[in-house]
Amino acid sequence: MKLNYSQLPSDFYSEASPLKFEKAQFVFWNEGFASAFQNRFSSEEFLSMVRGENSWLKETLAMAYAGHQFGHFNILGDGRAALVDEWKNAEGNLFDVHLKGSGDTIYSRRGDGRATLKAMLREAIMSEAIHALGIRTTRTLAVVDTGDFIHRNGMEKGGVLVRMASSHLRVGTFEYALLQDDVKKLKALADYTITRHYPHCASTENPYLNLLKEVVHVQIELIVEWMRVGFIHGVMNTDNMSIAGETIDYGPCAFMNVYDPKTCFSSIDTAKRYAFASQPGIAQWNLWVFANSLMPLIHENGKVAKDMSIEVIDAFPTQFGNSYYSMMGRKLGVEISIQEGREWVEEFLEIMEETNSDYTNSFLFLEGKEVSEVYLSTSPRFENWLSRKDTFPEVEIGNSNPIVIPRNEWVDRVLNEAIENDNWKLFNEYQERLQRPYESQSVEDVFSTFNPKNDLSFKTFCGT
Ligand code: AMP
Ligand code: MG
Repeated sequence: MKLNYSQLPSDFYSEASPLKFEKAQFVFWNEGFASAFQNRFSSEEFLSMVRGENSWLKETLAMAYAGHQFGHFNILGDGRAALVDEWKNAEGNLFDVHLKGSGDTIYSRRGDGRATLKAMLREAIMSEAIHALGIRTTRTLAVVDTGDFIHRNGMEKGGVLVRMASSHLRVGTFEYALLQDDVKKLKALADYTITRHYPHCASTENPYLNLLKEVVHVQIELIVEWMRVGFIHGVMNTDNMSIAGETIDYGPCAFMNVYDPKTCFSSIDTAKRYAFASQPGIAQWNLWVFANSLMPLIHENGKVAKDMSIEVIDAFPTQFGNSYYSMMGRKLGVEISIQEGREWVEEFLEIMEETNSDYTNSFLFLEGKEVSEVYLSTSPRFENWLSRKDTFPEVEIGNSNPIVIPRNEWVDRVLNEAIENDNWKLFNEYQERLQRPYESQSVEDVFSTFNPKNDLSFKTFCGT
């Protein structure tokens, strides 16, 4: 039996041989998530696979892709990951089982194909927190301590993460397909994508134009959700944008504390290309790259294909705005439209910014919850702004405003305790608390405390 993915033309992947880590041990196993799959491995079977004790894998592949990284085109591919299996959940949806940090592949360029245990644990914390917040994401099934050391900041513990995704198809996979200069290969990829993710497009008049519209839609929904919880992806290169609409690639991501639209923690993003408030614009830019890759399929006449694509991409700001302002309205407890509520929401953001208020806690404060680091009322504009709330109809806030998010300070502390002091109790407690982000905190809920000053020098890193 072959992997479903290998039905694509062979240009789209290469064989990979994950390293055998004889001393591998689990440090995280997500049984709750694993139980959603019938044809899964048990945790023991998994560990024996990572240790290289068996050879019952069907195929192991590294996927080829390209991408615009910080605006520049590069040919990439899984340089430190391998597709080892595909599982179906109870609804019959296929998931990729991917090892990350499992050794080099033909796409590794100068990299070692490895990952640090710390970076993989960080991904586990962040991805599972994003999921618990109700946001679409790749999941972490497991993290393994490889039992050896790799060269980073000195020698660091190596790790492997088992990433599950609805697929690893990226905007960059389509850029790679376009580069093959063979419309048959591009069509094979697009048809595969439609069958796997958007089957209803197949019977429409222009399946590929509709594929573009679908991806625009799921990306708008995703970015709006990131904005809701103050999530900064940090490296929205086109190779890190999922066609399925899941949050993928947890390198330099972080949650914003004090509201500042320019917040950017990534150490390499000196131009702040991927700052918090730039995310919608970047998404639109990436989707234009996607549209460009699909054009040969959208219409045989290049000019017509371009015009059709432009129309879809030009609709992005309005579609995004509608979804975004309605989400922000819900956070504030009112029903607003882009025409009527936009200016009111924007003024709230300005007040938060000028008073250095915490993003998460400001919304909780307006809900009447007891929170710290909110200085909204020090602004002369605040009372007037608040009085205008009554001009909008009320709406149920529901689960719009999280109480506990993975704040940088805590994520760092928990990881350091686990890696340096072997303190897994704190890691497990933190993981557990992040699974209930909307649940009121109790008095002893230390995980919602933080010092905003610690964020001023906080930096995140890619590819560690
Ligand atoms: P990322 O920044 O994680 O999106 O990675 C961008 C590209 O670099 C992808 O093709 C990765 O597979 C590759 N890459 C990142 N880290 C390594 C590594 N340690 N060894 C080999 N390739 C890597
Ligand atoms: Mg990536």
